[in-house]
Amino acid sequence: MTAAPTTTDGVLVDRYGRVARDLRVSLTDKCNLRCTYCMPAEGLPWLAGPQLLTDDEIVRLIQVAVRRLGVTEVRFTGGEPLIRPGLVGIVSAVAGLAPRPRISMTTNGLGLARLAPALRAAGLDRVNVSLDTLDRARFTELTRRDRLADVLAGLAGAAAAGLAPVKVNAVLMRGVNDDEAPALLRFALAHGYELRFIEQMPLDAQHGWDRAAMVTAEQILAALRADFDLREDPGERGAAPAETWLVDGGPARVGVIGSVTRPFCGDCDRTRLTADGQVRACLFATEESDLRSALRAGADDAELARRWRGAMWGKRAGHGIDDPAFLQPARPMSAIGG
Ligand code: SAM
Repeated sequence: MTAAPTTTDGVLVDRYGRVARDLRVSLTDKCNLRCTYCMPAEGLPWLAGPQLLTDDEIVRLIQVAVRRLGVTEVRFTGGEPLIRPGLVGIVSAVAGLAPRPRISMTTNGLGLARLAPALRAAGLDRVNVSLDTLDRARFTELTRRDRLADVLAGLAGAAAAGLAPVKVNAVLMRGVNDDEAPALLRFALAHGYELRFIEQMPLDAQHGWDRAAMVTAEQILAALRADFDLREDPGERGAAPAETWLVDGGPARVGVIGSVTRPFCGDCDRTRLTADGQVRACLFATEESDLRSALRAGADDAELARRWRGAMWGKRAGHGIDDPAFLQPARPMSAIGG
């Protein structure tokens, strides 16, 4: 094994030669929905206030990533990023960095109708809104909140504010919403949103994920093909997690993120920062690297960069879900940042 890099500047490279340019930043572990496949009805033991990075600490770490480590894309997530009070200020500060990264957000869309213009003005470039069903009763059951209308308004508000493209993320679950693939695609096409289906991954707080029961990329594509003509997108995929297909000849496309059955770890370009200041090399990593303690102990930017590079050097070759020795990470998706 080659030694970990010792310089303080340069890209976030791992021992397999992958370079992380896409930073996912969780702004909070809290959420205002309770999706049954993500967290229990009563919520989770949330991070305490002092454990959370402050707005200034978040911006400082993103600045280190952008200015010293070659990060070019910053995506805010959570938990639910829209419930972070300082969100607009954080986006604005990140948009002011040189070089300016592209800035996106993954959100459940609640409150987005109201916040989208301010976020756009602050520098947010685009959003992914999660939406697993178009049926109000089903939405209420699945998320334990009767808020479908707010999500739909959030999507419309994002498009009206000029956030582009507006993407929709959907997770299909057997016996819950696996009959909705064509309807979700029709909805996305009608509104000009880009739809992406995500295979369900073993990241739920309840540890209820079942490999045999999950809806696979193959099954999602078969369901779509019953109603649509899908042709492989000739465009370059790069490090994008979604494989995309042209719908009925294009230009509209649909994506499928086959994290479990079609893993793309070899092309992964992601690094993650949790709301409590831990760097993770992978959603499924069992190790974290504590930047918050270093930062609060007075580490300078060069030292923070050195630690971040060290954390990424240890990134494993793959997520290992298919390995018999696979262990689900201790933190659920909502606490890591999905
Ligand atoms: N609250 C925001 C939202 O709803 O988009 C951001 C966080 S949420 C954890 C991010 C995405 O992860 C959502 O699209 C959600 O459906 C997805 N997700 C949650 N648990 C998942 C799992 N076990 N497998 C795959 N996707 C999951």
